[in-house]
Amino acid sequence: MTISVAARPKFLENPAKELFIDGRWRPSLGEERIDTYNPASGEVLATLSRGRKEDVDLAVASARRAFEGPWSRFTPAQRQALLIRIADAIEARFDEFALVESLDMGTPITRIRAAKPVIVNTVRYFSSQALQCRGETFANPYAGPVTSMIVKAPVGVVGGIIPWNGPMFSIWWILGGVLASGCTTVIKPAEDASLSSLLLAQLMHEVGVPEGVVNVVTGFGAEAGQALAAHEDVDRIGFTGSTVTGREIIKASAVNMKRLQLELGGKSPDVIFADADLDRAVPGAAMGVFNNTGQICYAGTRVFVERRIQEEFVARLGDFARSLKVGNPLEEDTVLGPIVSRRQLDRVLDYMRIGSEEGATLVAGGHQLEGDLAPGYFVAPTVFDNVSNAMKIAREEIFGPVISVIPFDTPEEALQLANDTQYGLGGAVWTRDLGKAMKMIHGIKAGAVWVNCYGITDPMIGFGGYKQSGYGWKGGTHHVDGFLYEKAVTIWAE
Ligand code: NAP
Ligand code: MG
Repeated sequence: MTISVAARPKFLENPAKELFIDGRWRPSLGEERIDTYNPASGEVLATLSRGRKEDVDLAVASARRAFEGPWSRFTPAQRQALLIRIADAIEARFDEFALVESLDMGTPITRIRAAKPVIVNTVRYFSSQALQCRGETFANPYAGPVTSMIVKAPVGVVGGIIPWNGPMFSIWWILGGVLASGCTTVIKPAEDASLSSLLLAQLMHEVGVPEGVVNVVTGFGAEAGQALAAHEDVDRIGFTGSTVTGREIIKASAVNMKRLQLELGGKSPDVIFADADLDRAVPGAAMGVFNNTGQICYAGTRVFVERRIQEEFVARLGDFARSLKVGNPLEEDTVLGPIVSRRQLDRVLDYMRIGSEEGATLVAGGHQLEGDLAPGYFVAPTVFDNVSNAMKIAREEIFGPVISVIPFDTPEEALQLANDTQYGLGGAVWTRDLGKAMKMIHGIKAGAVWVNCYGITDPMIGFGGYKQSGYGWKGGTHHVDGFLYEKAVTIWAE
């Protein structure tokens, strides 16, 4: 597939991208480059600077200077105004962001356009958090003239490590708290989708974010990411990515006891009772997995279906999967784009093979797409039926458009199976019976539960994980607290 020149965003007129450190572009000290691909065509889209430890050192030093410099004198109202300007600028230039993101990681352009209000409102929400950096005072418990209070202060330099599956969303869970609280940051985006983070750094500089407050170091996780997680002058890490890497971050951060916030993997249950409205539940459960080609952390990949509707549900799910248009992400009617990279494509195809080998019934998909789409990393949306919760495809995160249908007979069994996983990111229930819904709401051990819908999130509410899906709530009224130290102050004043 060739992507027309007209579709090249302005930001990619020069496709050789550098690191963004101290308010300007600079090549990595080693001057090595990484190719980054358009997954729809398999062609090189741009090249990135390969940041290493010495580049991370420079970026952290810049962030530290900025933390102690004029940025520290910005009032909450000024930080709020800055975040509002950033939101306005993203809104004004959203078409360019959407095109960059779609070309870089393959998400359909219509999907990212539809997400415009979500992203812009998230930034606006974080502008309100600038006014939430508040401590507490206490009624005096002592006999003397004592005042006790808790004051709060920004933690300092925050390292932000994000994955490739939705960088325009995930970067804000870090930048929002950083800019609202008065911290500074070094962001390490995933090498498979770094371009929108670089464009954002440039835009933020243009609207007045002081130099050094936001730095972006591109590079490999095991080099630049590892160096950031292990850096002695980084105070906190916000990480979104896999559980395996999360464990590496915990180890690396031990060097200086960094504060951590970890958003990790998932294998979320989606429970369909026989009384559910199947006209909604079939597309709802399907898109709870197929959205973004299955590359969403809270995807409801284990679909538990009450046995007496299993046959009908699976037939309709298979028809729905086959009806979805997979193709060029820039076409208006495309619903599923490619998988982000060749490596990830191979992983997903492996799991599709393993599913059949393990004895699950392949109902739809299960293969790479050929013809015009062959040069890209496209797969057919896939449904396996008669999966058991013990199979590999039901236990491991595939991060591709693969649904495992697992039958159940009673609500108790559904709940037991739903919770039989190392993960706890999300879960859902489809029913008209309030009692069954409540049982799942209270019973599913996960940071988010949806009822008769899937995957709706809101920064005002936020989300987090149970078990090995991570810790540290993101969003909500206390989001900014994770970016603040607390200090107990006791004053004796006659
Ligand atoms: P990943 O392999 O864990 O990578 C995430 C980030 O960590 C990337 O920037 C990666 O860099 C970097 N990294 C890799 N190894 C590192 C190391 N040793 N030290 C420091 N950084 C390192 O995850 P992914 O495959 O990109 O993303 C998919 C995963 O993210 C899935 O597990 C998904 O569930 C999870 N996710 C979770 C949430 C959530 O909110 N819970 C949201 C979205 C995604 P490179 O890629 O450049 O090597
Ligand atoms: Mg790419």
